[in-house]
Amino acid sequence: MKKPFATAEQLRQIAAQYPTPFHLYDEAGIRENARRLHKAFSWNPGFKEYFAVKATPNPRILQILSEEGCGVDCASYTELLLADAVGFSGADIMFSSNMTPFNDFALAHELGAILNLDDITDIEYFRHLSHVPELVSCRFNPGGDFAFSNAIMDNPREAKYGFTREQLTEGYKQLMQLGVKRFGLHAFLASNTTNNDYYPQLARMLFELAVELQEETGAQISLINLSGGIGIPYYPDDEPADIMAIGEGVRQAFEEIMVPAGLGDVAIVTELGRYMLGPYGCLVATAIRKKEIYKNYIGLDACAANLMRPAMYGAYHHITVVGKEDAPSTHVYDVVGGLCENNDKFAIDRSLPEIDIGDLIVIHDTGAHGFSMGYNYNGKLRSAELLLRTDGSVELIRRAETPDDYFATLNLPIRQSTE
Ligand SMILES: *Cc1c(COP(=O)(O)O)cnc(C)c1O
Repeated sequence: MKKPFATAEQLRQIAAQYPTPFHLYDEAGIRENARRLHKAFSWNPGFKEYFAVKATPNPRILQILSEEGCGVDCASYTELLLADAVGFSGADIMFSSNMTPFNDFALAHELGAILNLDDITDIEYFRHLSHVPELVSCRFNPGGDFAFSNAIMDNPREAKYGFTREQLTEGYKQLMQLGVKRFGLHAFLASNTTNNDYYPQLARMLFELAVELQEETGAQISLINLSGGIGIPYYPDDEPADIMAIGEGVRQAFEEIMVPAGLGDVAIVTELGRYMLGPYGCLVATAIRKKEIYKNYIGLDACAANLMRPAMYGAYHHITVVGKEDAPSTHVYDVVGGLCENNDKFAIDRSLPEIDIGDLIVIHDTGAHGFSMGYNYNGKLRSAELLLRTDGSVELIRRAETPDDYFATLNLPIRQSTE
């Protein structure tokens, strides 16, 4: 059974102090998980996880991950500014973006970040630099279908990202001519997979490619970036990924391919987002309406503007009714938000205990790609983010938006309440 990381008592106390909806994060879970990841890759002295900032762009979360030895992976100018403000610099920042404005590269370069190029035309940026970075990484797109374990994982040929195989050789050569000394290689071929073979298969492909590129161009490869993609068990019956088995699978491929080719000192890095934070955040809302028409609806004070994944991908997020954890699931509901869009449904035909107005509802696994995908449609405001500390205390790590925030980009006075 899937349980929230906070007890019913804790959740009630928190909701008494901070109005719902809010996203709540679990410091203890985040730290333990980060330590497990580092243990799984401890065989590689250069290993580093660059947390994908887009998954959970909260400074306090980034600080915790920094304390656990992580860097950050940024994809935009503003994410770079955020990383800088938290105190990340130099090789603790990976810049993996695409269709990148040169202005963004300029800030990344100024911060000393590792630039992970998405396209051969990105090399243009380096032509007017007086000092090119010593290390540059390139993203590979193998095209075709990416298949293993008899299943097609994804269709890289339809993906907008990365260099083709030929462009990689050409790109490395051009970068060497411009003075780049060391190279990284990156690929991201499957999203949200709990299959323990994904990273080892991806690593194998990138390791073989690294050996080829070194032979073809003479480039010194110093970093292999396995990117993100390790998934989490959203459904109660899903098997979680086994990070120790994943680390071991990558190690075996490394021993087989990299070490004999003289590439035994290459650093393995990752850019995980979902795996680092997904299970360690939840969205807490209150049931504010029961509506009975052709179906039975529970209306929440949260909506898809607080969590877009169900509306966008039909994604499953498990739901717990606080205080009714052990009650039988006797009712079938659509659990919905108040947007004027009929896809604003956190759950469709979900069997749950009977829900009463005022019940606290926990929507699980919103720690990554949850708050961060929020938006202001229908004038809905972004919620607060709270951190459940390891000592049981609660810290407000982002206040909720107010109408003033919504009006802040408009040249328009806001109505002053007369109450
Ligand atoms: C989104 C993204 C990630 C993180 O992906 P997860 O599925 O959250 O692990 C890592 N790298 C890049 C380049 C991304 O775009």
